[in-house]
Amino acid sequence: MAAPKVAVVGAGVIGLSTALCIAETCPSCSVMVLSDQFSPNTTSDVAAGMLIPHTYPGTPIHVQKQWFKETFTYLFAISNSAEASEAGIHLVSGWQVFKNTPKEELPFWSDVVLGFRPMSEAELQKFPQHRFGQAFTTLKCDCPPYLLWLEKRLKATGVQMYTRKVADLWELHSEYNIVVNCTGIGAHQLVGDEKLFPVRGQVLKVHAPWVKNFIRDGDGLTYIYPGIHRVTLGGTREKESWSLSPDPGATKGIFDRCCSLEPSLRGAQDIKVKVGLRPSRQCVRLQREVLSQGGVKLPVVHNYGHGAGGFSVHRGTAKEAARLVGECIAALQGSSSRAKL
Ligand code: FAD
Repeated sequence: MAAPKVAVVGAGVIGLSTALCIAETCPSCSVMVLSDQFSPNTTSDVAAGMLIPHTYPGTPIHVQKQWFKETFTYLFAISNSAEASEAGIHLVSGWQVFKNTPKEELPFWSDVVLGFRPMSEAELQKFPQHRFGQAFTTLKCDCPPYLLWLEKRLKATGVQMYTRKVADLWELHSEYNIVVNCTGIGAHQLVGDEKLFPVRGQVLKVHAPWVKNFIRDGDGLTYIYPGIHRVTLGGTREKESWSLSPDPGATKGIFDRCCSLEPSLRGAQDIKVKVGLRPSRQCVRLQREVLSQGGVKLPVVHNYGHGAGGFSVHRGTAKEAARLVGECIAALQGSSSRAKL
C-alpha cells in the first residue's frame, strides 16, 4: 500500500496536537489538516489553557489520569526548554479555595501537578470567605501562541493545512484513506452527535501584570489565571447555549467575583471579552468507526467532546487517537495484501 493519506478535520488544540502525534508516530503517512477556522478563531483560542482537569463522568478515572499525566509531562518538558516562551507554556503556582471542605480532599490529579498540599492558615487569611484550600504548581498554555507553535511544528514535519468546511466526512473518501474527526462542537452537526452539547463560557482577558498567582474557586465558576501577557478572568458555564455574543451582565458579574477574590484587579486595564462553546459530552469520543457506502469503506477516528478540559488532556488523547490511526493503517494493509493474493 502507498503512503496512507490521513485527513485531520479541525484545527483547535485537539486537531493540531492529533495531527502532530500522527506525523510523529507514522512518518510514512501523508497528513493534512482541513478546517473551516484556524487560530485565532477557534474555541481553543478563547480558553484559559490551565492544566487543571475537568472530570468526564463517562470515562474511567485511571484513563483520565493517564491523559492528564501524558499532557503534563509533554508540556513540562516544553516549559523547561528554549521553546517555552514562543510556545506560550509556563509554570504557574497558586490556590484552589473552597467555602466548605470538599468531600474529596485529594483530587485524582494531585500527584501529577507539582507540590500539591493543603493551604496553611496564614495563606487562607487572604481569602476570608473560604475555609479550605489547596496550593500547587501547574502549567498554563497561552492559547493563541501555543496553537501557532503547534502549526509551526506541523509545517516543519511536512503536514499541510487547508481551509475547508467539511459538510459530510464521506466527501473525503476519494481523497483520503483515513479521516480523523477533531471538530469539537462542530461534530454536533457534522456527525449528528446528539450526546454532544455546548457549555457556553465567557471570560475576560485583562492587563494586570502584577497578578502572578492563580486563584480558582473550588466551584469552578470563578477563576483568575495569569498568563505570559494577559490574565484570564472567568467565568460562566451555560449549558445548551449556542450564543457567541458577549453578555455585558456576565462581564460585570465575572469582574466583581474576581475582584472579591483578588481586590487588586480593580486596577486591571484593557479588558477584552471572549466567548467560546465548550464541546461537552459525558465522555470524550475517542474511537474508531468504519463508514461504509455501496461496499466502499472509510475508516474514521473520532477525537472530540473534551468539554471544559481540552488543554488539560490534549496530548494524552492525541496519542491515543494516533494509536487508533495506526490500527486503521494495519487493517488497510492487511486487506490490501489479502487482495493481492
Ligand atoms: P475547537 O477549538 O473548537 O476546534 C474545533 C475545530 O474544528 C475548529 O478549527 C473548527 O473550525 C473546526 N471545525 C468544526 N466543524 C468543522 C467542519 N464541519 N469542517 C471543517 N472544520 C470544522 N480547557 C482546559 O483544559 N483548561 C482551561 O483553562 C480551559 N478554559 C476554557 C475557558 C473557556 C471560556 C472555554 C470556552 C473553554 C475552556 N477550556 C479549557 C476547554 C477547551 O477550550 C476545549 O476543551 C478545547 O478548546 C476543545 O478543543 P477542540 O480542538 O476540540 O475544539
